[in-house]
Amino acid sequence: MSDTACVFCKIASREIPAEILHVTETVMAFRDLNPQAPTHLLLIPREHIESLEQVTDAHAGVLADLVQAATHLAKTEGLDEGWRLVSNVGPAGGQTVYHLHFHMLGGRQMTWPPG
Ligand code: AMP
Ligand code: ZN
Repeated sequence: MSDTACVFCKIASREIPAEILHVTETVMAFRDLNPQAPTHLLLIPREHIESLEQVTDAHAGVLADLVQAATHLAKTEGLDEGWRLVSNVGPAGGQTVYHLHFHMLGGRQMTWPPG
């Protein structure tokens, strides 16, 4: 289940390079090309899901795996003071890549509200 035109599917299949930090049977994490914080990772399901809007009961396991990957990476990245997990959905949400992903940000003080 992948989309041949999708950049994150291409990263998942190793067709295009990325700095991959963590891979399991279901999820992958790599560094964002345009980091907005000292640690800026993208956590994706390896299967193509467009966004949180397409999530169904069948994805419960992979969503839990994404959160577990985040807590694992918080430790390996040394984000002891805290971190942020965010998923942009649709044009008004600021989504530019239509393969579900969580941005994991840390290493500096986050502000609220986000832009
Ligand atoms: P969003 O705008 O929420 O859909 O997030 C997409 C993110 O993907 C942006 O932060 C981009 O910097 C990042 N991005 C796009 N292409 C790549 C790539 N080839 N490798 C790593 N990050 C990427
Ligand atoms: Zn995809």
